[in-house]
Amino acid sequence: MIRNPIPWPNGARCACSISFDMDTDSLIHIARPRDSFNRLYPITMGRYGPTTALPRILETYRRLGLRQSFFVPAWTMEQYPDAIEAILQGGHEIGHHGYLHEDPTVISQPEQRHWFEKALDVHRRFTGSTPAGYRAPVYNVTQGTIDLLVEHRFKYDSSLMADDIPYLMRSGDAELYEMPPHWGTDDWPAFAHFEEIGYMMPVRSPSAGLSAFFEEFEAMYEAGGLWMPVWHPFLTGRLARWRLVEKFLEGILSTHHVWFAPLVDIVDHVAAFRRGGGTVRVEQVPYYERPVTLPAS
Ligand SMILES: [Zn+2]
Repeated sequence: MIRNPIPWPNGARCACSISFDMDTDSLIHIARPRDSFNRLYPITMGRYGPTTALPRILETYRRLGLRQSFFVPAWTMEQYPDAIEAILQGGHEIGHHGYLHEDPTVISQPEQRHWFEKALDVHRRFTGSTPAGYRAPVYNVTQGTIDLLVEHRFKYDSSLMADDIPYLMRSGDAELYEMPPHWGTDDWPAFAHFEEIGYMMPVRSPSAGLSAFFEEFEAMYEAGGLWMPVWHPFLTGRLARWRLVEKFLEGILSTHHVWFAPLVDIVDHVAAFRRGGGTVRVEQVPYYERPVTLPAS
C-alpha cells in the first residue's frame, strides 16, 4: 500500500507521534483584535488547554513513558510559562507555530519574517535551543515560509500533505523533511465549534470523532507508516475524549509493535536511513512560479 516504506527502529511496525498544537486564546486575539480582550468565553475555551487539559495529557505520557511533540505559538509561551516548563520537564519537543498564530498567506513577506524571527527569539529564551520543527498556523505554508525554515536551518516542516509518510522537500539546493498531516488526522473537524472565527461544525461524540483517528492508526500500522494525529489540548484533551485516547494508547502499547517518539527523533531516523542508502520520496518546490490561470483563447 505504501511504495517506499521506511524501516523503523527495533523492527517496529509503525512510527507514532501525537502532535499537539497548543494555540490557547491566540486564536481569538488574532481573529478579533479589536475586542478579543473582552470576549471571555473564547478566552476561557483557549485557556482550558494549558490549565486543565495539558496536565492530564502530560500525566498520561508520564505514566506510559512517552515523549511527544507540541507546537506552540510564541505568544502562548509568554502567556503560559508554567505550561511550557511542564512540557519541557516531560522531555517533550516544542516546535515553532508562529508568534500569535498569524496566517502566513495573509501577511507580507517582511511581516512574516518579523513575526517568525520574533517567535524564534522567544523559543530560544524559553527552551534554551532553536526549534527543529515548524507547523504553520492553519497549515498555510508559502514559499516564503520554506525560505525562512531553510535560512534558519530547521530540520522539518509538518504542514504539507503530498504523501502518507515522511518525504523530502527540495528548494533550490536546500532540503527540508516534511512530516505530512491531513485533515483526517486533525481534531478540528470532529470536535471544534467556534463561531467567532467562522468555524461551525457539528461536534461529534468522543467515540465517533476518535474512531477516525483509530482507523488511521490501523491503516498506518498495516502499511508500516507514521501515525501522527494533529490534536489540540482544548479539544482532544477534554475529559471524555482523553479517557478514550488513554484506553487506546494503553491497548496498542501492550498489543502492537509501535515506536512512539517526538517528531524530531523520527526525522533524525529518516535522515539516517537516507544516508545509509534508503529511498525517501522527493518533492521539488516551488511548484509554480506564477499564478495558474486559464490560457488566453
Ligand atoms: Zn494552531
